[in-house]
Amino acid sequence: MTNCTVDRTPSLRLVDSHAHLELEPLINDSATVMQRATAAGVIAVITVGIDLADAQAALKIAETFDNVFAAVGFHPHNAKDATGSLIHEMERAAAHPKVVAYGEIGLDFFRNLSPQSIQRSVFNEQLHVAKALDKPVVIHLRNAYEEGLDMIEKVAPFPAGGVVHCFSGNEKDAARALDLGFHLSIPGTVTYRKSDKLRSIVKDLPPDRILIETDCPFLSPEPLRGKTNEPAHIVHTAREVARIRQVSLEEIAEITTQNAVRLFGLPL
Ligand SMILES: [Zn+2]
Ligand SMILES: [Zn+2]
Repeated sequence: MTNCTVDRTPSLRLVDSHAHLELEPLINDSATVMQRATAAGVIAVITVGIDLADAQAALKIAETFDNVFAAVGFHPHNAKDATGSLIHEMERAAAHPKVVAYGEIGLDFFRNLSPQSIQRSVFNEQLHVAKALDKPVVIHLRNAYEEGLDMIEKVAPFPAGGVVHCFSGNEKDAARALDLGFHLSIPGTVTYRKSDKLRSIVKDLPPDRILIETDCPFLSPEPLRGKTNEPAHIVHTAREVARIRQVSLEEIAEITTQNAVRLFGLPL
């Protein structure tokens, strides 16, 4: 008999804390995507709905798979659509038993797909929604860390905690997020050659505040950069975080999984 052991550490348990399984192309093949995730050691995925229709799609996937959970909220790109009573509708969607967080909400002054003034008002309103729901808040900030953190600090404290996902800020931004009691979620960009600043932040983060994510289908880590990202690829990000912090892959997997379980109250 040949040795048919698969190339993975059997004890590995990873959580993808931020994914978009409900977006193309992953939505077309979610069963296979989740099979590959399980084979890679991923025990839970949080899929993030970014407008009302996308939130419904995310909930449907969360209802289909025991180990998929959802977060819902108007992404800053979609802030222009969050008119009138629609934020209340999102709040109602967030009452679904598989919704473990509110968001992603924030400011994106890199792509500016919604006018900045609308992004600000929708972000502020949703910060209050997250706080009232008493669920962790998922924050998206791009080219807007200083102003975004100012806005969060004005609404703080957030007793249910939160996470700045796909962290791309500087050391001061990281310190402010930690002071808020938030976690930082590290994406596949940490494997990119030019990400020295992110790597130096990852090195010094308190172990109980680190999460890892794919943000799939975007931002596939090296050596899969440029391909469609999916939860199974998170092992490459975990391996790089482990290398930076000079701990084993198993240890970083266990720490980040425990952090995700605690923050999101995952029933694992
Ligand atoms: Zn985001
Ligand atoms: Zn996202």
